[in-house]
Amino acid sequence: MVALFSRGLDSILAVKVIQQQGLRVRAVKFITPFFGWEIKGREQVYCEEIKSLYDIDLTIVDLSREYLKLLADPPNGYGKNFNPCVDCKILMLTRAREMAHEWGAAGLITGEVIGQRPFSQRRDTLHRIENLSETKGLLLRPLCAKLLPPSRLEESGLVDREGLFAFSGRGRKPQMALAAELGISDYPTPAGGCLLTDPGFGLRVRTLYESGGIPSVTAINLLKHGRFTSLGNGEFFIVGRHRNDNQELLRVADDSCYILHLAEMPGPVTVLSGQAEQLETAAAGLCRHSRAKNLENVKINWRRGKKSGRLVLAAPRPPADPGKQQQTAP
Ligand code: SF4
Repeated sequence: MVALFSRGLDSILAVKVIQQQGLRVRAVKFITPFFGWEIKGREQVYCEEIKSLYDIDLTIVDLSREYLKLLADPPNGYGKNFNPCVDCKILMLTRAREMAHEWGAAGLITGEVIGQRPFSQRRDTLHRIENLSETKGLLLRPLCAKLLPPSRLEESGLVDREGLFAFSGRGRKPQMALAAELGISDYPTPAGGCLLTDPGFGLRVRTLYESGGIPSVTAINLLKHGRFTSLGNGEFFIVGRHRNDNQELLRVADDSCYILHLAEMPGPVTVLSGQAEQLETAAAGLCRHSRAKNLENVKINWRRGKKSGRLVLAAPRPPADPGKQQQTAP
């Protein structure tokens, strides 16, 4: 069996319940810059951790490319913020179905619980997701299976329906009791986990999509830090607010970005994701948020890959263009 795995308690329990029936499960965790990205670059260590904590075999799949494309125009729309939950689930299930087929797995499991989320875990939405991901009959939700018609996996006798559950709603008590019964104590508290459900971050991402099409993974990762100013056409700059922002911006920026610093005094790191014509605007933004804001002839160094240069900004400098959208990181 192939399981969708988020590391939330429900997905851990779903796997354990099926393992208890003597079936082999391979869990799959999808990551994008919006969720699970902290694992990027340390996938093997993470898989070893999951194996040792829960005895679960895990495969990590980077879904960024497909996800960034999907986010431009999700057929089932967005949730409260910029979260395309229904299409996100359809995408993950479709990919998991293909992997199950490749691996010769009998079916798919998820830790979904009816009624736990306002829209994407409603009974009718669960059916719709199943139909659109072509997983009907293949998909089993062990934690709420008894509230749903039997899947093909139960009808064939592969999975014993009696060993499944009828959990519903937002309460966590039944899951916590089951976790205690199964000896699972180390699991994360339920929290957002997905940055697209954060109103402030969602607005930044939406601004990029609306101004310039599909952004890169680097652009999305830059949006997680500092003060963001959209320049239109998908271009933007970010000014670090503190040391941690500055470090993160330097870590995330790649050779397509311009990195700007004050030349003669300490100040925030600024990253421009855009064309050279926007360097002066980004430099003025940097000045506005530094001790150089009232000084004349401020020198600013920039570099981009192996290229570098210096700008001198004369005073008075133009104020921020009200047409440009500025947002501060949540
Ligand atoms: S909250 Fe985020 S990860 Fe979860 S279904 Fe919605 S878009 Fe996907």
